[in-house]
Amino acid sequence: MNAIEIKNLTKIYVKKRLIRSKKFLAVDNLNLEIVQGEVFGILGPNGSGKTTTIKLLLGLLFPTRGDCFVFGEKVPSLLAASKIGYLPEIPYLYKYLTAREILHLYGSVSHINDQILEKRIEEVLELVKLRAEKDTRLGEFSKGMLQRVGVAQALLHKPKLLILDEPFSGLDPIGLKDMREIILQLNAEGDTIFFSSHIISDAEKICDRVAIIYKGRLLRIINVKEIEHGKLEDIFISEINKADAGK
Ligand code: ADP
Ligand code: MG
Repeated sequence: MNAIEIKNLTKIYVKKRLIRSKKFLAVDNLNLEIVQGEVFGILGPNGSGKTTTIKLLLGLLFPTRGDCFVFGEKVPSLLAASKIGYLPEIPYLYKYLTAREILHLYGSVSHINDQILEKRIEEVLELVKLRAEKDTRLGEFSKGMLQRVGVAQALLHKPKLLILDEPFSGLDPIGLKDMREIILQLNAEGDTIFFSSHIISDAEKICDRVAIIYKGRLLRIINVKEIEHGKLEDIFISEINKADAGK
């Protein structure tokens, strides 16, 4: 069974105007299959439909056409949702709380039993290398640390599939390396990772496969092991140029 199946997925946003409503095709007949145990990246310039695709996968948006399946369950499904950990593009974290307090808050909202939760919070803080800073207020955290709190939050209920929306965005080189290591470690422990990025070099370092998407369309799927190391960015740019030239 695949971790994710996306079939003929299409999303048209309708912006209501006074006289006529305006339609925008954000995801255009997308088909993708993500195998269990993979690290898979969807890469595309801003506005390509990555976040929309992720929200459709999570059941946060309804598709105009097509379907998504998570571990064989058709989205929206509570069972599917319970197997997914999600890092939003802009995680909302209260800056006056400490890392431990915010994880407690998220855990309580997901109805995790208190004793289990305490132990799990320690485990996820260890996983994202924030144990030493667990009692520091988030207002004092760097962007990279906040991003790791976001990942810790996504891991609380032990999901089998992690969906990360732009996990590398805005990180410095140390933050990027930490994030890559965390993703690879979670993958080594058996999780499937699906993430979006417009930062190609970091995706190349950790992905088994990537999909290049542009203007809502799948341009190409690449098995990263089959290309020369460091070439993904060139391939990415050439695919986008070809699409723009209408080839
Ligand atoms: P990405 O994550 O690849 O940057 P998005 O999925 O956020 O792309 O957006 C794809 C396109 O859909 C963009 O052009 C964006 O402006 C448009 N879009 C996103 N959300 C909405 C919305 N709620 N209403 C109308 N258009 C939207
Ligand atoms: Mg986005």
